[in-house]
Amino acid sequence: MIKLYNTATRTREDFIPNHPDIVKMYTCGPTVYHFAHIGNLRSYIMEDILEKSLRYHGYNVKRVMNITDVGHLASDADTGEDKMLKGAKRENKSVMEIAKFYTDAFFEDCRKLNIKRPDVVEPATNCIDDYIHIIETLIEKGYAYAAGGNIYFDVSKLKQYYIFNDFSEDDLEVGVREGVTEDSNKKNKNDFVLWFTKSKFEDQALKWDSPWGVGYPGWHIECSGISMKHLGEDLDIHCGGIDNAFPHHTNEIAQSEAYLGHKWCNYWMHVHHLNTNSGKMSKSKGEFLTVSLLEEKGYDPLVYRLFCLQSHYRKNLVFSWENLDNAVVTYNKLIAKIAALKPGEGEVDGAAFDELKAKFLEALGNDLNTALAVTAVYDVLKAKTNDTTKLAVLDDFDKVLGLDLIKKAEAKRKELAAAAPKTGEFTVICESGEPDAEVEAQIRARQDAKKAKNFAEADRIRDELKAKGVEIIDIAGGAKYKRL
Ligand SMILES: [Zn+2]
Repeated sequence: MIKLYNTATRTREDFIPNHPDIVKMYTCGPTVYHFAHIGNLRSYIMEDILEKSLRYHGYNVKRVMNITDVGHLASDADTGEDKMLKGAKRENKSVMEIAKFYTDAFFEDCRKLNIKRPDVVEPATNCIDDYIHIIETLIEKGYAYAAGGNIYFDVSKLKQYYIFNDFSEDDLEVGVREGVTEDSNKKNKNDFVLWFTKSKFEDQALKWDSPWGVGYPGWHIECSGISMKHLGEDLDIHCGGIDNAFPHHTNEIAQSEAYLGHKWCNYWMHVHHLNTNSGKMSKSKGEFLTVSLLEEKGYDPLVYRLFCLQSHYRKNLVFSWENLDNAVVTYNKLIAKIAALKPGEGEVDGAAFDELKAKFLEALGNDLNTALAVTAVYDVLKAKTNDTTKLAVLDDFDKVLGLDLIKKAEAKRKELAAAAPKTGEFTVICESGEPDAEVEAQIRARQDAKKAKNFAEADRIRDELKAKGVEIIDIAGGAKYKRL
């Protein structure tokens, strides 16, 4: 049984999907106007672990993710410039070029971090008709109104608006941080835009016809629309960064449940911040930390993945180069230990395999305790079983951990084998001048002759080489040669 902390109820709950044969999972995707920073990617790593953990526990999972390529304004509360337009202006490109470039860059980062691509990835601009249909229904049902040319969701029509009460303080914070000027069209402070026609209209690049005039969708509606399009009217798990809880997820719930007339999503999983010593990581503050930057500095992106797995997703994680260096040491030691295991030593011991796997399942099922799951890897290394079993278990764990444990250990093993002198192998070293394949072949032929105790032939070859001006010096495990 998997236990998962549900932000909506603020408790750890037994995870029970709506349909026994499939888990429907939705992830808020990136706004593709810039590179993702590693703080954003922490969320995607942990969501990847959640999906893989569900599969590892035997569930089928259908996971959907949106790509925000329209409608997300600089503030999550519908004010400021469209982020996509901001990116396009910055780089002197079209909005669609920006979207394509940063979508590709995002999935390239994911590939390097062993983050599986969700089953369905849907750009927001693909589903305009779906949003229009939902908005029309919301107006019909009395949950939405037109004002100043825009369509707004009326939060006063709900019995309960705040779902993630712990985060209602963020409500204030948004206003303070972004210097939000109140939109005078709104009836209530938390009303949000479903469809824009007037606001920011002049320089908006992408717009569509709608019953309310030419315009574009608000940011929040895309996740409800895309989720329902691919997963239907109910959802098991919705995940995202903790920043998304308010207002984004709060608004998603408001509009989805008002539209459907019933509960929409059962479990809300939120990944907490990656902080630097100076506070929450953001694109505008301090060094812009990307996967490419980690690589430029010589870090394997999987070290960052391990760094994330070492702490719990519901705790803020502090990033520093020193902390990442510690993860490098841990990762290298781990790979070296696995490389020291001998493949093909004995057969897989089923009972030992199951016992080790049970511990790992328990750690993951305990609200995704990835730190304990990493500890389970060390338990495998210490276990009293043969190396074949250990390697099989580690390979199995890596389906979830995604640390390339076996692949990296094999590479390490090969590297060590290449560096170590091989017993019985005869090495020929050219000490001066250009290496000469013909000379080396003769030296090897002399060695073969010596092995066959044909010393006359060995001496003949040595003399022949000497006549050519090549001197042979016998050394341990081989011979050196130099030109006289
Ligand atoms: Zn979303």
